[in-house]
Amino acid sequence: MQVPDQPNSENRNTDLRSDSLFPAFDSKNPPNPQLIDACVHCGFCLSTCPSYRVIGKETDSPRGRIYLMDGINEGEIPLSPAIAQHFDSCLGCLACVTTCPSGVEYDQLIEATRAQTERNHRRSLPEQLLRKFIFATFPYPKRLRVLLAPLLAYQKLGLQKLQRSLGWLEKLLPKQILAMESLLPNLTAQSFQDNFPEVIAAKGEKRYRVGMLLGCVQRVFLPEVNNATVRVLTANGCEVVVPKLQGCCGALSHHQGQEAQTLELAKQTIDAFADLNLDAILVNASGCGHTLKEYGHILKNDPDYAAKAALFSQKVKDVQEFLDRVGLTAKLSPLQDRPLTIAYQDACHMLHGQKISLEPRRLLRQIPNVQLRESIDAALCCGSAGIYNILQPEVGHELGEMKVTNLTDTGAQLIASANVGCITQIRKHLKLQNKNTPLMHPMELLDYSIRGQKL
Ligand code: SF4
Ligand code: SF4
Repeated sequence: MQVPDQPNSENRNTDLRSDSLFPAFDSKNPPNPQLIDACVHCGFCLSTCPSYRVIGKETDSPRGRIYLMDGINEGEIPLSPAIAQHFDSCLGCLACVTTCPSGVEYDQLIEATRAQTERNHRRSLPEQLLRKFIFATFPYPKRLRVLLAPLLAYQKLGLQKLQRSLGWLEKLLPKQILAMESLLPNLTAQSFQDNFPEVIAAKGEKRYRVGMLLGCVQRVFLPEVNNATVRVLTANGCEVVVPKLQGCCGALSHHQGQEAQTLELAKQTIDAFADLNLDAILVNASGCGHTLKEYGHILKNDPDYAAKAALFSQKVKDVQEFLDRVGLTAKLSPLQDRPLTIAYQDACHMLHGQKISLEPRRLLRQIPNVQLRESIDAALCCGSAGIYNILQPEVGHELGEMKVTNLTDTGAQLIASANVGCITQIRKHLKLQNKNTPLMHPMELLDYSIRGQKL
């Protein structure tokens, strides 16, 4: 299907004309026509769009999707399964927002479109069931942990190794379930509980009192990153508050247009961190950080929460952004005696969503002997994108392959990444490419350095 460069009533592709068999957008917050009109169709965004890079069709690019949104708004294109797939193929990486010279707010457009798609497009039964399963488990650490026991047995009994070498599940299970299996990290006893007291004292003189978000998937699959973050913060004079009532921040649901769940989880998070007299609320996963900073916008129409949400968002900082701003006070030791080369991987919601790129690099460079290397296509998504690599496994897979090739081509001895989704995706593809380059979160590297522990 070709989308014309300058659509008008004459040259629109008649295949896209409205079909009453399929629904359209409803009247609740359709993609804003003014934002759509800001697009001048220049096409600068196409080269930085990962879905366009892999799929190669205009309809899977930012410009093409904006045409489709406009066509649906105008009643000229139906919200058919084929059209919905072009919205589903968007990773929500926001690279197009960074690239666009006209300042098109594609993030607002796709957010509105995803919510419309969830409300008005009827997915196939297997798709519905998969999404229901993901949204009923991933945002709830207690439920996720119930699933961990059989998964731990699956790993400890060697069944996972057997499956990965023989591939006997490949003919039996859908590709989305196989993608989930392939992303499963090594589970440990730490995955089963949160061991933090509610308040953890600063080491030495207290400089700040900060709240910390544990994340839903992160606390279960990468608990070592939270442990390292707490040690780095306390070593740098922060009293860390870890509210017991906190759950998922809603990022996962927000990125997939699950409005009701997003609102509920956002309100719970605001309540969990309320009245704690915090200087900042810190987060060490970029997807979550971006959503927490959006709470003011997400809850702007809620009379009870709008003001609280705006105040909450003002306090949110990515942990690297915070430490770069307040400065490290703990002594840093080399991680090895010879120079250590590190390729830092920018997570999309950090780079494009929060415009944070220099801060983590400045922190890593303070570790003695560290030298940073930059990869080509550094701003291109790794294909993780929340649960994209599960829902759209082929495109996610190709992007993961490219990312690992580009990162390892730098020749760096280690990769650093500050997002749980990117970490699991890149580790998976390192394994698939038989590469043994270690991958760590910058907080783990700072923690090793502060404790004088060599790699
Ligand atoms: S979104 Fe921006 S960069 Fe892309 S075609 Fe429209 S104006 Fe050009
Ligand atoms: S958010 Fe990412 S995947 Fe989606 S249109 Fe923009 S650049 Fe492409």
